Amino acid sequence: MPATRSARQRKAAAEAGALATVTIDLAPDDSFAYTIACTRCEVPRPGSGTRSWSTRRRGEDNGYLAAMDRWILHLAAKHPDASAPCLAYLPEAQARLQERREQRSGRPASSDEG
Ligand SMILES: [Zn+2]
Repeated sequence: MPATRSARQRKAAAEAGALATVTIDLAPDDSFAYTIACTRCEVPRPGSGTRSWSTRRRGEDNGYLAAMDRWILHLAAKHPDASAPCLAYLPEAQARLQERREQRSGRPASSDEG
């Protein structure tokens, strides 16, 4: 039986640790979209003001992995003192990031780095 959205959300929140706010909503095509936001970091909002740092990725397990990778790298870069279960996957996250960078070499990196 597939895990429900709330079960997935609890699992993701537990993995992501105390600094993260995890939400899962339904994309227009009925797949899950994972959003992981940082409770500490703010980034400039286009126009004016700021918003919380967050990453959003769509698509069941792929979306979960992609969002969690971004979050792990954010934690490692910005909150080196934080501890979270997901940090156990830091080497894998870095390897996957490297793979994706090689796949799109020549194109500029995504603007939500950091
Ligand atoms: Zn942060």
